[in-house]
Amino acid sequence: MSLRGRFILSHILPLLLILPLIGAALIYLLETQVLLQNLSTSLTQQAAIISAVANGRPEIWTNSDQARAFLAQINNQLESDITLLAPSGDFLATSETQPAAEIPTPDINALLANRRQVIITYRLDEQSATIFVPVTNVNQQLIGIVEVSDNLESVAGSFTPLSRFVLIVLLGGLAAGSLIGWILAIRLEKPIGGVTTAVADIAAGQRTDPIPETGTKETKELARSVNVLAARLRELEETRQRLLANLVHELGRPLGALKAAVNVLREGAGEDPALREELLEGMDNTISHMEPLLDDLTRLHGQILGNIAFNLQPVHLDVWLPPLLLPWRAAAQEKGLLWHSDIPQHLPAVTADPDRLAQAVGNLVSNAIKYTATGGSVVVSAGETDTDVWIEVKDTGLGIAPDEQARIFEAFYRSNRDRRFPQGLGLGLTIAKEIVVGQNGRLTLASTPGQGSAFTIHLPK
Ligand code: ADP
Repeated sequence: MSLRGRFILSHILPLLLILPLIGAALIYLLETQVLLQNLSTSLTQQAAIISAVANGRPEIWTNSDQARAFLAQINNQLESDITLLAPSGDFLATSETQPAAEIPTPDINALLANRRQVIITYRLDEQSATIFVPVTNVNQQLIGIVEVSDNLESVAGSFTPLSRFVLIVLLGGLAAGSLIGWILAIRLEKPIGGVTTAVADIAAGQRTDPIPETGTKETKELARSVNVLAARLRELEETRQRLLANLVHELGRPLGALKAAVNVLREGAGEDPALREELLEGMDNTISHMEPLLDDLTRLHGQILGNIAFNLQPVHLDVWLPPLLLPWRAAAQEKGLLWHSDIPQHLPAVTADPDRLAQAVGNLVSNAIKYTATGGSVVVSAGETDTDVWIEVKDTGLGIAPDEQARIFEAFYRSNRDRRFPQGLGLGLTIAKEIVVGQNGRLTLASTPGQGSAFTIHLPK
């Protein structure tokens, strides 16, 4: 059964169950409290009249023929069934054509005490009222009993329009309630149905725009979560495609060079020791250049896809940073860059994982060297604010366009604006940011295209 069907049923079912019950209860109350009461009142009046008339005819209480004759006389005027009983309760005569199978028996003692008796029978097969009235002589002695009884069918004539009215009201209520329930159920189901269809479309790749967040609080929440999920999926897919493209690019170039060198060697260049040495050295260099690629990939596996475990300890940047920068200074100078570092003494210690932090700083400095043309400069400085200690890596390289400044921290994102600069896999900044953020720090960037970039690591004191 569909959700809509269930909603409709759950809105209408209570009405379907409750309204008939209310109807039955209403009819029961009407019959017992109104109709049967009315009947018994009218029967009591009739019985009083009959007993008054019968009072003047003592002979009917001793002779059943007389009793029958008396009944035949008065029966034309009365609709109810009249039975005459001797003071002992014995049957004398009845006007009933088909005497009822079960005749209620009167309480003789009550009648002897000159009290009338009302017996109301309310069963599925019979709803009737029976009145027993004592007939006494001048000495207040019980000389006979008049029984008047009738069932509801005889007053059904007045009951039918009433019950029809009740039925119409109940059916009207049922119809209106069902309609409202149906509308409510559809309104409830609609946003959920909308989200379900949208999710199916997303899953089938037929939809890329976000689902509108409408409906109840829950459906809004659902739509929002699906949108977040879809965005994350898209991001993952983009990352995957960038990874593949970068890998093909980064592996293709050196592999092509290696293959060319191998071919040259095979075609006899091996005979010339000088040429052979040159080719082998080139191959060695190419392979060495591929190593950072593998490092990046290994780190990607361990960090981005796994949890980084930090080995935290106090790090005194003024002591720790200068030796770390030495190899980078050599690399920068080898490329013909001006190198400057400005690390003040007595910087407060930060709590950090020195190996991981070295990796983050290394990635920033390596980028600064990589993306700055010969003649430019790289400056590494450190300092403190009220709350943080910072390390800044600043270059006068090609800079980063504003629209790319957030994206370069995404995994495998690399800008291809300037192809003069060889790029890596696009993981360096992603890893650096993960490391810094993982130690409660921030990695910020200020850059002007064509003028240079400044990356700053902020760590809480
Ligand atoms: P890659 O391995 O490609 O260097 P990164 O994640 O380290 O990957 O950097 C992502 C991209 O950000 C680079 O491809 C480059 O375009 C840009 N970038 C990073 N650092 C700098 C910088 N100092 N100057 C200019 N561009 C930079």
